[in-house]
Amino acid sequence: MNRQTIIVLPIKSVILIWIMLLCLIGPAGLSHLKAAETPGTTANPEQEKWKAGISTTVITPEQSMWMAGYAARTKPSEGKVHDLHAKALALEACPERSRGDEQGTRLVIVTVDLLGIPRPLRDWLEKQVNQRYKLPPESLLLNASHTHCGPVVKEMEDSIYGDSFYGLSPEQIQRSRQYMKTLQKKLLSLVGQAIENLAPVRLGYTHARAGFAMNRRLKTERGYVISANPDGPVDHDVPVLRIDNPDGKLRAVVFGYACHNTTLSFYKFCGDYAGFAQIYLEEAHPGVTAFFVAGCGGDQNPYPRGTLDLAQQHGRALANGVEAALLWRASPIQGPIRVVLETVTLDFAKPPGRQQLQQQAQSSDKYERRHAEVLLKELEQTGKIRTEYPYLVQVIQFGDDLTMVALSGEVVVDYSLRLKAELAGPTVWVAGYSNDVFGYLPSLRVLQEGGYEGGGAMRYTNLPGPFAPSVEKRVIDKVHELVNKVRAAKSK
Ligand SMILES: [Zn+2]
Repeated sequence: MNRQTIIVLPIKSVILIWIMLLCLIGPAGLSHLKAAETPGTTANPEQEKWKAGISTTVITPEQSMWMAGYAARTKPSEGKVHDLHAKALALEACPERSRGDEQGTRLVIVTVDLLGIPRPLRDWLEKQVNQRYKLPPESLLLNASHTHCGPVVKEMEDSIYGDSFYGLSPEQIQRSRQYMKTLQKKLLSLVGQAIENLAPVRLGYTHARAGFAMNRRLKTERGYVISANPDGPVDHDVPVLRIDNPDGKLRAVVFGYACHNTTLSFYKFCGDYAGFAQIYLEEAHPGVTAFFVAGCGGDQNPYPRGTLDLAQQHGRALANGVEAALLWRASPIQGPIRVVLETVTLDFAKPPGRQQLQQQAQSSDKYERRHAEVLLKELEQTGKIRTEYPYLVQVIQFGDDLTMVALSGEVVVDYSLRLKAELAGPTVWVAGYSNDVFGYLPSLRVLQEGGYEGGGAMRYTNLPGPFAPSVEKRVIDKVHELVNKVRAAKSK
């Protein structure tokens, strides 16, 4: 009896407490939901000091082409899953008349569903946009999604590496060069259209997470191999820049993720998970353009991988990450905008001598053989093998609110984790695969551990071999120098 009373009373009190709690939470909960349903940046007229222009174009090859990313492919492409795109976002912070600016500083971000940005393409485009649209080189950011299901664009006439890597037929080489010419024209007019379309907007930053990227460097008795390593470092952040029309309607989203875009390795053109994520976001928000900016995913893979269904699942997971970020009110981003692009010289470790190269040129491994042949050719033509790499670092400062660091090459995750920890102040967004995708940028740890990203992958490039141990310090010091520069310029 007594026992029963003890049981009954708490249940009654629990129900009572619940009713009271519901009454208390109710209105707050509803208003909270309402806020989540009508997100966007706050309607502060101060923020409407931005202009944005958007343009997109399809860059899917019109005919079958050799596909970039895997040396082991044995035939050219066979159709497509969906189109590959190039997209441009022009941003302009309204002029600071007090500084005598006639037009505000501009930034144009160009994203492409391609394996990389060859340096000659970057050099050509930056020169052209400067001449035609008065866009200075530091205001142009190019980023490649690193899909391994796009065409080969590296085989340019001025490439030292020539056409040996994929072993293309003369016909395929011709197609690749023709594609590059068409791509150049498309990118040039894309940038022009985006600048022409500049119209008032508001900018906001928000972020969420997605979990499918996993470290892909596994320590084994044979050294580090490419295999899922659940204990290795990852960066699951999904940074999101939202661009809203003055009426608060979403106009565009720029989102990042640090993971190789390599769920797939088949023979159809496809943007892989990053392509699907952009498609899903654009389907869910008609009229909105979604831009994917590849992060520091050099040593990250999407797991599990290997099927179209998995590429769609990872695309959905990333799109959901962006949708989650869009649920909350974004932090408004103010101007002005400050941009800087500089080169830092990276040293290579001592290259192999002529004798060693001649030996390697007899190797039964065709990639080792080709790499040695390329270096021997360089030795013959120039009398030496290059010892340095001119590495591009770009930094963009949005008011006091956001610092974007765009690094070239296939950057390993240590860089984004370190820079986000070290750079105090505004939110930091670190992109990889920007402006010049020449090969891997290892951290000192990855360089010392060795393996594919540490230096092994260099044999698939025209570069001599691993970087010297100074690589990480040189890049990090340059980023700090440039961040200090843009932040100091802003506060002047
Ligand atoms: Zn890669």
